[in-house]
Amino acid sequence: MAKKSIPESVYDIIIIGGGPAGLTAVLYAARASVKTLLIEGASTVSQITTTDAIENYPGIPEAVDGFELVERFRKQALQFGLQTLSTDVSAVEKADWEGTPGWTVKTSDGVHGALALIIATGAQWRKLDVPGEAAFTGRGVSYCATCDAPFYRNREVVVVGGGNSAIQEAIFLTRFAHKVTIVHRRGRLRATGILQKRALANPRITMAWKSVVAEIKGTDGVEAVAIRDVDTGAVRDIPAHGIFIFIGLVPNTDLVRGIVPLAKNEAIVVDREMATAVPGIFACGDCIDKALRQVVTACGDGASAAYSAQLYVEELKGEAY
Ligand code: NAP
Repeated sequence: MAKKSIPESVYDIIIIGGGPAGLTAVLYAARASVKTLLIEGASTVSQITTTDAIENYPGIPEAVDGFELVERFRKQALQFGLQTLSTDVSAVEKADWEGTPGWTVKTSDGVHGALALIIATGAQWRKLDVPGEAAFTGRGVSYCATCDAPFYRNREVVVVGGGNSAIQEAIFLTRFAHKVTIVHRRGRLRATGILQKRALANPRITMAWKSVVAEIKGTDGVEAVAIRDVDTGAVRDIPAHGIFIFIGLVPNTDLVRGIVPLAKNEAIVVDREMATAVPGIFACGDCIDKALRQVVTACGDGASAAYSAQLYVEELKGEAY
């Protein structure tokens, strides 16, 4: 295939999202000397940066906090010429670069063009959607124990959820709060065995099994959490100054809704090469439809997405070999 002429300003790949998936994708792309731009949200942070201890990232046996790990990823990518912009992306649109198909990415900072996109926009915490949740957010309702736990020194708090996030954060909260009640809708936890063991053995943690939050109560701040027993329907108040909600994730996929196919859970559907059904759009990390959301799987996805996008771009430019 003959080499194509493409405007100088057009990147080979634009990666949207600066968490573990996006930073790994940029590391692979930049190291392969692909002309790459990383766009990180100006008003958002990667969820992993709010995690206090990661102890299952291979090669780092001592627990590392999420912020530090992401900084290490960034430093490594910088060594290979990472080009980065901190700005919010408002839209992604199809483009034509002198006969070569591509994409534009609209940001508060201007419009940027590329031949391929890698979507690595992550996910955000799911909301409970109960009375008091919105009103007390930032005044007792929190989605980040690492950020807010020190406010609850010697106080009582509630944690909602039974997955890895809820249990890990509940254990972290016991460093500050003198009582942590975990409210879980079933009679057994979803979290991994080692976290379950630690939580159930922790004298500061109490379980409220088969219970759901009915209301978050208070005046200036949270004072109590009303929970309902799912079997009997009985409602009781747990005195609490704070409530930490960890009931799963909602993928951040608004940007590509209507452009690429999404699964029922709103996550981006990709094949094993991290390609979406739309040529030139790849995706990786927590925003894709998959079973295991971990830093290590996000990194693996990011590497695959970068490799696939690189092959796609080379083919498009007539440079494949
Ligand atoms: P998750 O694994 O989806 O667990 C969500 C929990 O919230 C489940 O226990 C679920 O109950 C409960 N839940 C969901 N909707 C609810 C509702 N409306 N009301 C009450 N409870 C509700 O989510 P996650 O814990 O945030 O974890 C997300 C991903 O990150 C997972 O892949 C997880 O493994 C990973 N992660 C890993 C680590 C680690 O490896 N150390 C740490 C944090 C997160 P049911 O159990 O009844 O469904």
